[in-house]
Amino acid sequence: MKHVLPDLPYAIDALAPSISEETLRYHHGKHHAGYVNKLNALIEGTEYEDMSLEQIIHQSDGAIFNNAAQTFNHNFYWHSLSPTKTEPSEPLRRAIEENFGSMEVFKEKFVQAATGQFGSGWAWLVLDPHDKLIIEATSNAHTPIEHHMTPLFVCDVWEHAYYIDYRNERPKYVETFWNLINWDYASKIFEDKEHLKATTMLPLCNNPDDPMCGYIDDMTHQDTVSS
Ligand code: MN
Repeated sequence: MKHVLPDLPYAIDALAPSISEETLRYHHGKHHAGYVNKLNALIEGTEYEDMSLEQIIHQSDGAIFNNAAQTFNHNFYWHSLSPTKTEPSEPLRRAIEENFGSMEVFKEKFVQAATGQFGSGWAWLVLDPHDKLIIEATSNAHTPIEHHMTPLFVCDVWEHAYYIDYRNERPKYVETFWNLINWDYASKIFEDKEHLKATTMLPLCNNPDDPMCGYIDDMTHQDTVSS
């Protein structure tokens, strides 16, 4: 199975000037594309050739793991950004307030995790396997789906995500990220997960072009297996 570079879910200049068109041309068109192309080259003729991205992440290591995980992380990252202002849904806002005390404390902790990650990596809001909201920082290609966590949004803190626009000033980029968070997408995943708990059924994933479909299928599978 050939893995494909998904299109950005918005125009290449939609996040400018916060995140410039030039950054997206490199980040999506060179870095993300590079992970997808390397992954396809590495798995050709191997046991990984016909696996989903999520299966590869769970079963591989070394270069194959790194390129599969980076492919997933970037597929997800683009959906964590919104060109228009969004707000968390009421259930997600309540859950954040219950877990972290307030939205302000959550922001402080998330910004700290993103700016404090040493070297390359990612800062995530995830639901852990017990459906508790936590902030996770992962290094290099590592991804919370390795540990059966459900990401709600992610900030890429590799330098390639911000160097063109912010040079070495990661805190400025993280502040920008905070203002671009796609709360609609995060809220939808949160509510699908709540729905799954209530009914053991996720909504059907009926758009084959949605990069999240495989992920939702995998989530359904995990929940079936673990229950
Ligand atoms: Mn990146």
